[in-house]
Amino acid sequence: MNNLLEVKNLSKTYYTKEKEIKALDNISFKINKDDYIAIIGPSGSGKSTLLSLLSGNEKETCGNIIKKDNLKIGYMFQSDLLFEWLTVYENCLLGLKISNDLTKENISNVIRLLKKYDLYEFKDNYPKSLSGGMRQRVALIRTLVIKPDILLLDEPFSKLDYQNRLIVSSDVINIIKNEKISLILVTHDINEAIRMCDRIIVFSKRPSVIKKEYIIKNDDYQKYYDMIWNDLYEK
Ligand code: ADP
Ligand code: MG
Repeated sequence: MNNLLEVKNLSKTYYTKEKEIKALDNISFKINKDDYIAIIGPSGSGKSTLLSLLSGNEKETCGNIIKKDNLKIGYMFQSDLLFEWLTVYENCLLGLKISNDLTKENISNVIRLLKKYDLYEFKDNYPKSLSGGMRQRVALIRTLVIKPDILLLDEPFSKLDYQNRLIVSSDVINIIKNEKISLILVTHDINEAIRMCDRIIVFSKRPSVIKKEYIIKNDDYQKYYDMIWNDLYEK
């Protein structure tokens, strides 16, 4: 089946003591294999909420998330969440350890990934000795070792400076494409969305509905940039 996941009429409301916050309102879309989707929208529009629902960390209020059988979802947050007291290698093995999957095959996959993405010689280093970009690659490898079908990235580059953001984001998309993983990238950077993804879903202000969806078909990046800018900032 080409369709990995379908989101159908998804809504999420948070109930706090003082008020109800409707974060997502009737969101529907599908993710196919080899889709690279960016979700872009104002701050507080429910982007992180959507990823939490997709990863199963939170429960939807209404609607459905229909997943292909045995679908594996990887999730990487804004901060890389590497454990400073573990080496690069130990950090990468952590997920496998927790899920009791430290098989020979999985361990050699970790080593393959470290070698392929230029981290093998740093495998016994501690995270604090690495650059921001290298840390992001370690975090990505740690997520890839569970062999996800879809990777969820929540503003993963926002803590890096501009120059590094360009380098790391192109590293990351290359790795994801090489490993044949589909992507949902949450970002507020229009350029990043256009460069990395081939579908862009624009969320409205809260309660978020899908305001627009773009398929990036050609290299006319400026045209897409202008349209998405208007969606986000027009009065
Ligand atoms: P985004 O990632 O687009 O900036 P979020 O998904 O983090 O937005 O949040 C959407 C809205 O839901 C915000 O108004 C936020 O304050 C609210 N929200 C998120 N998580 C919770 C929670 N656990 N409890 C209450 N409100 C929440
Ligand atoms: Mg967020």
